[in-house]
Amino acid sequence: MANIIEFSGSVLVAADDEREGMWSVDGVLTFVRPTAAPDEVLDGWVLPGLVDAHCHIGLGAGGAVDEATTLAQAQADLDAGTLLIRDAGSPSDTRWVQQRMDLPRLIRAGRHIARSRRYLRGLGHEVEPGQLVETVRKEARAGDGWVKLVGDWIDRGVGDLAASFPANLVKDAIAAAHDEGARVTAHCFAEDTIDHMLDAGIDCIEHATGLLPRHIPRLVEQSVPIVPTLVNIATFPDIANQAAPKFPRYADHMMRLWERRKERVLEAFEAGVAIYAGTDAGSVIKHGRIAEEMMELHDAGLPPSAVLNAAAWGARAWLGAEAISEGASADVVICRSDPRLEVGTVLELKHIVLRGNIVR
Ligand SMILES: [Zn+2]
Repeated sequence: MANIIEFSGSVLVAADDEREGMWSVDGVLTFVRPTAAPDEVLDGWVLPGLVDAHCHIGLGAGGAVDEATTLAQAQADLDAGTLLIRDAGSPSDTRWVQQRMDLPRLIRAGRHIARSRRYLRGLGHEVEPGQLVETVRKEARAGDGWVKLVGDWIDRGVGDLAASFPANLVKDAIAAAHDEGARVTAHCFAEDTIDHMLDAGIDCIEHATGLLPRHIPRLVEQSVPIVPTLVNIATFPDIANQAAPKFPRYADHMMRLWERRKERVLEAFEAGVAIYAGTDAGSVIKHGRIAEEMMELHDAGLPPSAVLNAAAWGARAWLGAEAISEGASADVVICRSDPRLEVGTVLELKHIVLRGNIVR
C-alpha cells in the first residue's frame, strides 16, 4: 500500500500559480488524484520547503563541532521549515547528513578559504596568496558545486576591513573553480571587495554590506545574486563596540555598513538584483532562524512575493533544486494563511513534510 498524503488547501506552485488538488504518493508529488484514499489530509497554503542559502552545518563558534551538535543544528533548521541548505563553508565532513533521510537536503561548499590570520580561528583553510588557486581547486572538488571565499576581513595593520587576496589572484582562483565545474561565493563586508569580486567573475556575494549604487548595474548585468544575511548583520553594532578601543576606524566602518543595511537591500531589489534568504547560522547565529531572516527582508521593504521567492521558489531554481511540480520529492511546508498576503505566517508553520514524511 502506498503512503498517501492529500494536500487539501491551496498549492502555491509560484507566486502567481495557485492550484488545488495535490498529493504525495510514497514521497513523490502528483496533481493526479490517486485511486486509494489518503492516509493523511493536510490543509493550508502549501509552499516548497524553505531554503537557507547561507548556513553552516557542523560549525560552531570555535570551529568544527561533533556529530551530535551537527545533528541538532540540522534538526533545528528542519523544525523551522528549512528543507534545503546551501552550506556556506564548514570545517566538518558533513556528507553523512546527506545520507539521513530525516534531515534537510544539503549542498556543501567545502571549507571556507581565508587569508592567514585574517579570519575566525579554526573555521577556514587559512592560506597565503600563493596557495589560493590550488586550495580553491581542491575545495571545488571536495564540495557540491560551490566554493566559499572569505573576501575581506579586518586587517589589524591597517585598522580597517581590507581585501583578503590580490584581485588578480582572486580572478585566477575563480577561473580554476569554474574549470572544476563549481561556482564561487564570497564573504564581502567592504565596498571595494565587491568591485574586485565582480571583476573576477564571482557567482554570488554573501552579506554584501558594502553594496553601493555603482555595484548594482553590474550585479544585474552579470546575474550575480546577493545573500544579505540580515539576522547576522544585526550583530555589527556589538562587533563595532568591542573593536572600538583598539580599531576605531574599523568600528566606525562596521557601524556605517550596519546603518545602511535595509536601504541597500531595497535598492538592489528595486533594480532587479536577485536576493536570497540566508541566516548565516553556525558560528554566532543559532540555527532555525530562516523565518526571521524572511521577516528582515520584508522589513527592508521587499513585498511578500519577493520574500517568498528569496526563500522558496527562486532560491530553489537558482540552486538547481526541485520545487513543487509533478514527480518532485514531497518537500513542502504548509502555512496557516496565505503567505502572499501575510508573510509572517511562516513564523509558525502548520505542517512540514520532508520526502513525503510528515515532520509535523
Ligand atoms: Zn557564513
